[in-house]
Amino acid sequence: MKTIGIIGGMSWESSALYYKTINELTKQRLGGLHSAKIILSSVDFAEIERLQHQGDWTQLGEILAAEAKRLEQAKADFILIATNTMHKVADVVQSAMHIPLLHIADATAKELLKQKHQKVGFIGTRYSMEEDFYIKRLEDQYGLEVITPSKQDRDEIHRIIYDELCLGNIRPESREIYIDIVNRLQASGAEAVIEGCTEITLLLKQEHVAVPLFDTTYIHAKATVEKALA
Ligand code: GLU
Repeated sequence: MKTIGIIGGMSWESSALYYKTINELTKQRLGGLHSAKIILSSVDFAEIERLQHQGDWTQLGEILAAEAKRLEQAKADFILIATNTMHKVADVVQSAMHIPLLHIADATAKELLKQKHQKVGFIGTRYSMEEDFYIKRLEDQYGLEVITPSKQDRDEIHRIIYDELCLGNIRPESREIYIDIVNRLQASGAEAVIEGCTEITLLLKQEHVAVPLFDTTYIHAKATVEKALA
């Protein structure tokens, strides 16, 4: 079994879910008392969020690269960044170390293609929805067509992530907002919707909507276990 290095804490609400899911899937695969070999490096999300807000992605890249190096020195076999948004600095992190980075967008795209989806909706932070680093990867490397919500809907999604979900605050009123947005994406032709933020699954589950949801936390955790046990 390989040792998994996780850069987490962004937010810890979703890192806790990663930890649980990776262990559950490892137990499912190996049975008995088996659990995953994990080294977790968990950052202070207040610092990360402040730098994101200031647009200081250079420093964010340096912080995550330093965490990745620590995990490599601690003998992790591969690394994951347990958030979609922070994959904006994935290339910087990868080039700072010699072990592989398991990219969340690659794991997600492969699942979508496996299920034969082509046109998909994407919800996540404003960074992930409005910048190129994530969606362009899905489109250019995997041939997916990605649609995002309107500006007003993107602002609401983003606000709820940072003001509520990252604080562990799960509100039924916010779920209704997400349901409406996801339904609008489906009406615009999305065959599936990517929950492209690792906290969204805490709020919105498959039972709440008809369109298939692709939960990036679960997908990334599953790909991690497959790689660790390969
Ligand atoms: N966990 C979130 C994501 O998957 C947002 C928090 C962050 O900025 O990393 O994008």
